[in-house]
Amino acid sequence: MAWNSNLLPLSALQHLVFCERQCALIHVEGLWAENRLTVEGNHLHRKAHDGPDGHRKSVRMARGMELVSHELGLIGRADVVEFPNEGPVRPVEYKRGRPKRHDADLVQLCAQAICLEEMLGLDDPLPEGAIFYGQTRRRLDVLFTSSLREKTRGAAARLHAMIASGVTPTARRERKCDRCSLLALCLPDAMRSRATARRYIEQETARLLAVAFPSPEGSA
Ligand code: SF4
Repeated sequence: MAWNSNLLPLSALQHLVFCERQCALIHVEGLWAENRLTVEGNHLHRKAHDGPDGHRKSVRMARGMELVSHELGLIGRADVVEFPNEGPVRPVEYKRGRPKRHDADLVQLCAQAICLEEMLGLDDPLPEGAIFYGQTRRRLDVLFTSSLREKTRGAAARLHAMIASGVTPTARRERKCDRCSLLALCLPDAMRSRATARRYIEQETARLLAVAFPSPEGSA
């Protein structure tokens, strides 16, 4: 697949819908931190990507298929794409947890569907995909409604605007922060008035170094 520098990672949409600040910390400032939830999630994705392609009943399954949409300006990979002998193609995502209150997982899956429609040159929009949740061991069917498609296109547009601006939104402490892998870097309680976690960390590091290694008196 040809690399186009205007293409952004499809997975960033999920970060954006979960928390715009988290998305900017990862994709603008280049900060990343793992926690138990991200490690477990990555393990599940690797298992889904690395398994062999194959058939289940009358469905051919392609694992780790590369995806791109020039309309959305996104590039990524699907865990699994199902190609039934009859009927429309379905993207399937594997998630470690359970269905969420927010739409991050649904938007990510819908973006995959838009990629597939564009790549396969489909005349008809794909009606649905599915998300398999590890905690509930259940597969959730997701309809690609016009409102979900609108939300997905809106999220992709906001993602491009955010990356182009290079501005990190200010922190807002919410309940979801307790599950966020970037909590220790974002510092939502301390950062309310500061937009850039990297600058804050650099300032704090400089301050601590100055305390630990004070300059000789009289030097500049
Ligand atoms: S700690 Fe909260 S505000 Fe900060 S990135 Fe995570 S979810 Fe967003």
